[in-house]
Amino acid sequence: MSENSCKFIFVTGGVVSSLGKGITAASIALLLRQRGYTTSLQKLDPYLNVDPGTMSPYQHGEVFVTDDGTETDLDLGHYERFAGVSCNRNSNYTAGKIYSSVLERERGGGYLGKTVQVIPHVTDEIKKAILSQATEGIDIAITEIGGTAGDIEGLPFLEAIRELGLELGKENVLYIHLTLVPYLAASRELKTKPSQQSASILRSIGIIPDILVCRTEKPLMEEHYRKLSMFCNVPRNAVVEERNVDNSIYEVPVELAAQKLDELILDRLGLPLSRLDLTQWKEMLARAIHPSGPRVRIGVTGKYMQLRDAYKSIFEAITHGAIANDLALEIVGIESEELEGGDVSLLRGLDGILVPGGFGYRGIEGKLVAVKYARENKIPFLGICLGMQCAVIETARNIAGIEDANSAEFVPDTPHPVIHLMEEQKGISKKGGTMRLGLYPCDLKEGSLARNIYGVGRISERHRHRYEFNNEYRDVLENSGLVPTGISPDGFLVEIVERPDHPWFLACQFHPEFTSTPLKPNPLFRAFLEAAGRKALG
Ligand code: GLN
Repeated sequence: MSENSCKFIFVTGGVVSSLGKGITAASIALLLRQRGYTTSLQKLDPYLNVDPGTMSPYQHGEVFVTDDGTETDLDLGHYERFAGVSCNRNSNYTAGKIYSSVLERERGGGYLGKTVQVIPHVTDEIKKAILSQATEGIDIAITEIGGTAGDIEGLPFLEAIRELGLELGKENVLYIHLTLVPYLAASRELKTKPSQQSASILRSIGIIPDILVCRTEKPLMEEHYRKLSMFCNVPRNAVVEERNVDNSIYEVPVELAAQKLDELILDRLGLPLSRLDLTQWKEMLARAIHPSGPRVRIGVTGKYMQLRDAYKSIFEAITHGAIANDLALEIVGIESEELEGGDVSLLRGLDGILVPGGFGYRGIEGKLVAVKYARENKIPFLGICLGMQCAVIETARNIAGIEDANSAEFVPDTPHPVIHLMEEQKGISKKGGTMRLGLYPCDLKEGSLARNIYGVGRISERHRHRYEFNNEYRDVLENSGLVPTGISPDGFLVEIVERPDHPWFLACQFHPEFTSTPLKPNPLFRAFLEAAGRKALG
């Protein structure tokens, strides 16, 4: 489908950040898909980093990796999980990426003779990024603008979407503004003024929202609808409430459908109102909210446990595994540094232990305590990326007797680098987009747990790492019970290890959490939670 027949939806945010624009955009995409429309989803981030790959979890939360190996904003994870869309390098643009292209073109003589300016050159580049979504077969392209209306760095992005409204025609473009209607406990009232002011910021740029979606913790009353409509300049029926959900973020699409947001969108875009089928989604949600199975406690040991966004996809994938197995789930975040003294009381009573990915030495010794505890106490264990590397170090040290075994990432001159830098990573000094990224195939050993779980001989999963299992230690580790069962097709890279002497102990170099969705959990998470469920039943 060309950009002429593709419709565009722009989602902006007002009042504060962290309103859930990503979840709202993803929910809209799900609803439109379930009405038979093909959608794409894209995030534009106004910050100057070229991508979030080099940002600390403190700044940015998780870095989500797509099939094609792009390091992206975590909202893309919501897009894939809710709407089942497959994101790619066109799905996330930062101001840094936009400016880089403009500057590269300038150096290449692409603007010879001209003064290069934010308007029109940067805005043209933004428009090109947006239009790149309108590929063959896409009916509706949804673009979320990061940040909040009023941010200085967001201005070129808002200017670009304003211009597109004019260029593509009113009937092809829809502006949805997500805003906050705060509740003041002291006066016990909902306040519409912040939303009015944020709509007025958009108006001053020339954008009048078609639909106002209002995040609120209390139901909006008629007087609020009336004020929001009149003073934000939005028709009464286009003011939509998005109330906080109680149990699961996967309730959001159902709530928005109950508010008829999808019907409103199709009406405004002049598209036929086909039937909405949420049967499968609602069945999944019912299991998520009222599981009939036992309660499982899954411990996740990381170093940013107070920041849930840092492990977003991990928590979601654990949730998917619990839903698939009809289990009530409690995720226990454990700061790995707290395990470093050897006190394992935080690990008691867990039905599964997961050591997720990460970078740097801080917290590693605590993660090794968690691996050892899971191994010795026969607790289902899933190690992911850094978690697999920890499983390797733990066996090397505690079973193979290689006391100073370590990863070269933590101690570059360690005498026993059981984890070492990958050959192709040697000599790379540039940061950002330079790790081993994206989908790679992996062959599963006949008769292994992994093979049994996936049910096929070759899988493909997403990666993000620089270090790998050192093949010089393959035999000694295998003789110590840690068996490589997933290997790259060329036979060199160990992608999965497991312990046949343990009820469920598997660790992988890739990130299975990135491809897990509530309707189609990644097989490893499904099986890990199943094992945890068995453990919980005793
Ligand atoms: N820091 C490790 C590496 O670069 C693991 C990376 C990760 O867990 N994503 O290999």
